[in-house]
Amino acid sequence: MRYPDTQLFINGTWGPAADARTLPVIDPATAQEIGRVAHAGIADLDRALSAASAGFAIWSATGAYERAKLMRRAADLLRDRADDIAALMTAEQGKPLAESKMEVLAGADTIDWFAEEARRTYGQVIPSRKPGVTQLTLKQPVGPVAAFTPWNFPINQVVRKLSAALAAGCSIIVKAPEETPASPAELIRCFADAGVPAGVVNLVYGDPAEISGYLIPHPVIRKISFTGSTPVGKQLAALAGAHMKKATMELGGHAPVLVFGDADIETAIAAMAATKFRNAGQVCISPTRFLVQDSVADQFVDGFAKAAEAVRVGPGTDPDSAMGPLANDRRIPALERMIDDAVARGATLVTGGKRIGNSGWFFEPTVLRDVPVDADIMNDEPFGPVAVINRFNTADAAFAEANRLPFGLAAYAFTRSSATATRLQNEVRAGMLSVNHVGLALPEVPFGGIGESGIGTEGGSEAIEAYLDTRFITRLD
Ligand code: NAD
Repeated sequence: MRYPDTQLFINGTWGPAADARTLPVIDPATAQEIGRVAHAGIADLDRALSAASAGFAIWSATGAYERAKLMRRAADLLRDRADDIAALMTAEQGKPLAESKMEVLAGADTIDWFAEEARRTYGQVIPSRKPGVTQLTLKQPVGPVAAFTPWNFPINQVVRKLSAALAAGCSIIVKAPEETPASPAELIRCFADAGVPAGVVNLVYGDPAEISGYLIPHPVIRKISFTGSTPVGKQLAALAGAHMKKATMELGGHAPVLVFGDADIETAIAAMAATKFRNAGQVCISPTRFLVQDSVADQFVDGFAKAAEAVRVGPGTDPDSAMGPLANDRRIPALERMIDDAVARGATLVTGGKRIGNSGWFFEPTVLRDVPVDADIMNDEPFGPVAVINRFNTADAAFAEANRLPFGLAAYAFTRSSATATRLQNEVRAGMLSVNHVGLALPEVPFGGIGESGIGTEGGSEAIEAYLDTRFITRLD
């Protein structure tokens, strides 16, 4: 596999930035440069804005049936190219090839699902109070979209926004991640090759703050969608608010896992260890704060630590690797700082805790136990392969800890009691709750947070609403 340089895609054409600037792309398994990505400047953004404006006129006038057909063709191309695209993703992001391939194929399913939704953007006819009056709502695409996506799921984070926008009839400018640019570019290529008209989909990379600072206030852009950290999300949502733009924000979390004494502990360990170490823990819905009832706490910690030690860490290109390196050099000092802080405050390091080797950004699967709530890692998401396991005595204490933080993205729980499951359902403040198994992030179910974890959902039948305006018409004939 040859890793390509990545170009901008504006108005149906691939090309360099106007001033020819580029940024390096680094393989996280070797810390070596493997390619370059074009760095857009304001002139390129202006071209993308004009293209998106013209693209919107074309796409919003294209029938939903035709839009859906082109989208399904793009999904098929993505499936056909899954092996090659997965190899690019592993080279730039580090995750094992099998995870990359799953992400690409799941992306195709997301496109298909939104293609179907395109044909169901129903309005309503509302019974009127007076004879002769017709009241109805029309759903119309909101306009050109600006989407900002991060490096942890290079395709998945783009495909949710792109598919919902296209299904609704919007054009889009995607600001994809500079650190993992080639696989999202191949996703965009599938849409271009499927026949989506020039200008409808545009792709840029560059300085994230410069691009968001220019695109969000720009009058052409009518809708923002961002996935990333809560602090950045707050800034972008504020900017969108200042210009009265619709915004979807998919931000950070700190997912609690409540394991009750009556749970099937072995199932809980197996499900949660697989979920915790997927993508080296760099997942917004990664389980992070484990809360385990006293009666099973030692059993859970021992079993989880064994599972952590059994994870084979190595380059994503090696089929035996279950966990690749961290995606960038920022994560290692961030994790080391959080682990040192927890231990300094009295936590016990059960296993892991260190970088592996000195080439590439590999990190040991790590388990900390009995971590005081004032430790940084109990308050900021680790975004790495670290599980924090604390014990609880009463259900009330577990619920209080689960709901202590301002975030509310994912939560997990294990119990055999239906009364406890009902209480979890009603009282855990999270956008998504998974009980006794892991069942999140399918295209047809909601995906989003509450509180400081964000605004809106990127899955399920509500997702397309964020790209539509509802207009009301009342008519006397
Ligand atoms: P970061 O907070 O600087 O960046 C997070 C993402 O936001 C990146 O994709 C970045 O390109 C983008 N970004 C940053 N400033 C921006 C701006 N002004 N305008 C537009 N986009 C901007 O940090 P990072 O080191 O890349 O990641 C660190 C933290 O970010 C993680 O610890 C995690 O909390 C969060 N994160 C969350 C997700 C997610 O899926 N929700 C994904 C990646 C990172």
